[in-house]
Amino acid sequence: MRKRIVAGNWKMNKTLKEGIELAKEIELQVEKQKDKSIGVIIGIPFIHLPEVSKIVNHKIISIAAQNCSSEPKGAFTGEVSAEMIKSTGTEYVIIGHSERRSYFNEDNKTLNKKVKLALENNLNPIFCIGELLDERKHGKQFDVVNKQLNEGLFDLADEEFSKIIIAYEPVWAIGTGETATPQQAQEMHEYIRKLVSDNYNAETADNTTILYGGSCKPSNAQELFANPDVDGGLIGGASLKADDFIEIINSF
Ligand code: PEP
Repeated sequence: MRKRIVAGNWKMNKTLKEGIELAKEIELQVEKQKDKSIGVIIGIPFIHLPEVSKIVNHKIISIAAQNCSSEPKGAFTGEVSAEMIKSTGTEYVIIGHSERRSYFNEDNKTLNKKVKLALENNLNPIFCIGELLDERKHGKQFDVVNKQLNEGLFDLADEEFSKIIIAYEPVWAIGTGETATPQQAQEMHEYIRKLVSDNYNAETADNTTILYGGSCKPSNAQELFANPDVDGGLIGGASLKADDFIEIINSF
């Protein structure tokens, strides 16, 4: 049975002190939840990882980095390796977020290297995919997602692939206030699961957690999560306030 997950992506927000406070507040509220089966992850800035990892109970909240280097180690000034991230107690890493793809020119080949390094270091990748507005307008969204999965993930062995969480994030919905309709989300998630089934097998597809991301908030999370192939969300803006984030978790 696949896991339902709500993951926050704080992006480049919160000082260390603010980050610690927010993490503690989220933990406190998640601890009170009746349904303990929903995985809660917070994707936080690199410099927060060791400190926040130390103060949270990892049985209640898991920690994700927002990126990792495509190189294992060495003379790559400013980079942070998967091994370094793992050494802080972090469990997940977001790879291929649309902001990394567009502002930092990360292509599928580079992202595939990152995924493999993450897995080698026992980090679970949250692999982001999604089309641009123009691509959707031209009906190319399925081709785009297919290519991102083919080049980014589908050369992984079965065992490696079982560690992957996929996040479908239509780029036109990220930080714009515009959300995919529940029908658009379901249609794409169903398509992604079918691709996983074709490239691996039906059981692997059934066990793969596929999150929706893109202006997901307390007011729309319930109708998005109600879809059979939507297993939770990757939440940007609304993960910066504990109350909103918790309300989204409660939408299940
Ligand atoms: C994101 O950054 O992954 C995201 C979905 O952002 P937002 O929720 O703000 O659209």
